[in-house]
Amino acid sequence: MTGRRPSAETRFVHAGSDPRKQHGYVNPPVHRASTVLYEDVAAMNASQADPLKREMPVYGRFGTPTGRALEGALAELERGYDAVATCSGLAAITTAILSFVRAGDHILVSDSVYPPTRRFCDSLAALGVETEYYDPLAGGGVGELIRPGTRLAYLESPGSTTFEVQDIPAVTAVCRSRGVVTVADNTWATPAFCRPLDLGADVVVHSATKYLTGHADSILGAIVCTEESYGAVRSAAIRLGQCAGADDVYLALRGLRTLGVRLDRHQHQALELARWLREQDEVRGVVYPALPGDPGHELWRRDFTGATGLFGLELDPRFGEPAVEAMLGRMRLFGLGHSYGGHESLIVPADPMGHRLPGTWAGRGPLLRVHVGLESVEDLREDLAAGLRALSGHGE
Ligand SMILES: *Cc1c(COP(=O)(O)O)cnc(C)c1O
Repeated sequence: MTGRRPSAETRFVHAGSDPRKQHGYVNPPVHRASTVLYEDVAAMNASQADPLKREMPVYGRFGTPTGRALEGALAELERGYDAVATCSGLAAITTAILSFVRAGDHILVSDSVYPPTRRFCDSLAALGVETEYYDPLAGGGVGELIRPGTRLAYLESPGSTTFEVQDIPAVTAVCRSRGVVTVADNTWATPAFCRPLDLGADVVVHSATKYLTGHADSILGAIVCTEESYGAVRSAAIRLGQCAGADDVYLALRGLRTLGVRLDRHQHQALELARWLREQDEVRGVVYPALPGDPGHELWRRDFTGATGLFGLELDPRFGEPAVEAMLGRMRLFGLGHSYGGHESLIVPADPMGHRLPGTWAGRGPLLRVHVGLESVEDLREDLAAGLRALSGHGE
């Protein structure tokens, strides 16, 4: 290698890996661990010296070399300083927020966030923290909502279920200038396609359950930090008892190695199917920032280098619930189930009305969330076509 920075594809393969530290074996051992034994009391005392428990093994809850390998890899890929692995994506989100807020604070949260994130933020009222939801399209206008007590702003771009693309640099710039910490959920894009820390965010959160692990076989989260935000996040994770199981961490490390090739195919197939779906009579629209003409397309082109396999499918408003049920019941390859980012295709109703500011999706057609997996794109198109025919059979 010359002085050139290795490209992303190369880093997916090697990030966080140091075979010399593991007898030459390519992959790290899985440390299933609670107790760490010390040579003597002096060594035990020395291990207590680091309040962030970052370097030396102390106790399984503070992490193991397997966990540190994943944390190092994600920090490298997101161009952060360090990372904290958590037991789930939602735990990464709650830990990141609790790292910064105190009673009396006000926080700004995008109206398009993952619904369980919203429910957690609503529950913060009981701790004296007020949540205000902002329009994901507000961009720098978020500055008008900042008050003296505003502590944190939370972004997710594109938004869950409705896929609005936020002007991340505009939001983070106005927040930074006013001393407001920004946390961004980067689960959809992964560090392959977007790096919010480069766009000014202080903290990135991930549901590693999705593309990073990539095979629907684990629940895992991660928080990636700048040098300035790391101490607060890591110490909150220690106080909250936040940790990740070694087997899940291992699966994420293994998934990471093929992230580049998997995402290539997810993206390619999703774009092809989204273009096709958009032309079908039963379809009102496809919300997918990678599609030219999508309201978020220009911002997506500016700030992202690709799109993953998840998009929204808006059916014609003439179809009601029984029709949608018939469609989903007819489909064979697209499984009816939550989550995404695995090898398999999924489809799930995703009505945003129950968890958005009033009026956001009013008057629009039924919304489905589609995850395009790694199956043959022709087979997937046929399955969608069969679903649409079943839908029409029920048109009112
Ligand atoms: C799935 C998801 C989460 C939660 O992740 P879990 O690992 O299921 O806890 C958070 N944010 C987004 C955007 C997600 O899609």
